[in-house]
Amino acid sequence: MDHLHRIAALRHKLARAGFPGLLVTHPPDIRYLSGFTGSSAALGVTRRRARLFTDGRYTAQAAEEVQAAQVQIVTGPPAVAAVQWLAAQPGAAMAGFDAARTTVAELIRWKRELPSSLRRSFLSPTPAALVESLRMVKDEDELRVMKEAALVGCRLFERILPVLRPGVREMEVAAELEHQARLLGAEGMSFDTIVASGIRSTLPHGRASAAPLPRRGFVTLDFGIILKGYCSDMTRTVFLGAPRHGERDAYHAVLEAQQAAVSSVAAGVSCAAVDEAARSVLRGKGFGEAFSHSTGHGVGLEIHEPPRVGAGQKTRLEAGMVVTIEPGIYLPREFGIRIEDMVAVTTAGCEVLTPAPKALIEL
Ligand code: ZN
Ligand code: ZN
Repeated sequence: MDHLHRIAALRHKLARAGFPGLLVTHPPDIRYLSGFTGSSAALGVTRRRARLFTDGRYTAQAAEEVQAAQVQIVTGPPAVAAVQWLAAQPGAAMAGFDAARTTVAELIRWKRELPSSLRRSFLSPTPAALVESLRMVKDEDELRVMKEAALVGCRLFERILPVLRPGVREMEVAAELEHQARLLGAEGMSFDTIVASGIRSTLPHGRASAAPLPRRGFVTLDFGIILKGYCSDMTRTVFLGAPRHGERDAYHAVLEAQQAAVSSVAAGVSCAAVDEAARSVLRGKGFGEAFSHSTGHGVGLEIHEPPRVGAGQKTRLEAGMVVTIEPGIYLPREFGIRIEDMVAVTTAGCEVLTPAPKALIEL
């Protein structure tokens, strides 16, 4: 779907929410709607027009990337220019903005730059993040890029296995993984690579440290790349040495929970139900308390975006959504295990975008 279609879909949402215009300031939202990848911009959208405001550093880039909106180069803050443009549109009585992406200081500034008659009521927060809700459902072009990004992740996992040896520092593992990612075409990593080994595997977000990999124990690798702006995300946990019964059983519990949640994914199923599919398996095996986070999250232009796949989340999955399924258990002073796939929701179920092996790998 091209940007014109996305802006048309946004207008539909704006009309339904009763907003004649919208100020868009969150860079991933701007990229999604207009194709512009620069870091300084604002987009104004009304029922008939769309205009991107950016500064002189981006003149050539905006001309090349943006077809679906007019482009205006400004000297001051792009958002201020966008607000003033929105206010000058014929019949514009109000424009929405995303309160979750606006600081109090920005809002004060925008209001100050408006004619005094509009200061009080012109800018109004939208009831939900309208662009973010559009971004939840990926179109074919996005799905193609995301599949490609996820497959690069799988190749990275293969390439990093020979590097995992006792004594190698977690940072070295991360460095090698990130180096290989670049060689495979990644624009960057979608977040700080997690390499959490031995006792550190009990940290769900154990960024790679100077700690050496142990002679025996779990090593959790959680990483993702950015390709054409889209993020990938996957986790595998492997074992250095020979696992004991308890360690093997715990791994299989997480794997079973992860597979149960993947199997439960389909259009129409609530995010809470997917979370419960994983959680009930772990609860049944006595690991309920040890599963201390949500089952997953949406992923796309941002590494964490809606929907949240967690307890109590009523959002129903729709075909085209891409979410992660990543249950884990963390036993203090012992070990942690997490297994994460990225899946694309379909009407009948889902397609796993990260088909790297999940059977316990012993190195
Ligand atoms: Zn992850
Ligand atoms: Zn994740």
